[in-house]
Amino acid sequence: MPGTCIHEDAIRDVTPSARGCEECLKTGSVWVHLRLCRTCGHVGCCDSSPNRHATKHFHATGHPVIEGYDPPEGWCYVDEVWLDLSDRATPQLGPIPRYV
Ligand SMILES: [Zn+2]
Ligand SMILES: [Zn+2]
Ligand SMILES: [Zn+2]
Repeated sequence: MPGTCIHEDAIRDVTPSARGCEECLKTGSVWVHLRLCRTCGHVGCCDSSPNRHATKHFHATGHPVIEGYDPPEGWCYVDEVWLDLSDRATPQLGPIPRYV
């Protein structure tokens, strides 16, 4: 069992809020990878991106579990463990625009 996350309740079936990082799309910024909040569907960018919007979303909302788009692995910010979401990955809206 890969790590232990106690936030199963925070993993919901969500609809991605956008096809790229919401905030970066607004400001015309770039990202490296996308992270989907499995509590509310917010799409943000990863910590390798200049703006780290997914982490900012966690700090702003406390939503602990995010899903990477490629591959669909999960990460819990609170427990700091990887989660296997391959059997419950979120359907993507379509081709993800890549900027980097
Ligand atoms: Zn957790
Ligand atoms: Zn961003
Ligand atoms: Zn959220």
